[in-house]
Amino acid sequence: MNGHCCESMARQMAWHCDDHEDAFDCPDALVSFNARSQEYGLIVHDGGTSVIVIDFCPWCGSRLSVSQRGRR
Ligand SMILES: [Zn+2]
Ligand SMILES: [Zn+2]
Repeated sequence: MNGHCCESMARQMAWHCDDHEDAFDCPDALVSFNARSQEYGLIVHDGGTSVIVIDFCPWCGSRLSVSQRGRR
């Protein structure tokens, strides 16, 4: 499963679209992973780059990688 909790998440993480270079421009892209903060987020398609950080997978409910923010 390549380190992802489920197939749906793996599919999202492997997102690729011929029409949109940026996931934020693509209505088919639902989840983004921020490598810097190690956070998963739901993409808010409001024309910007907003995400809603999620702690649990919306498909299978698994706990996602814990944010590095504020932790040691
Ligand atoms: Zn999952
Ligand atoms: Zn697209």
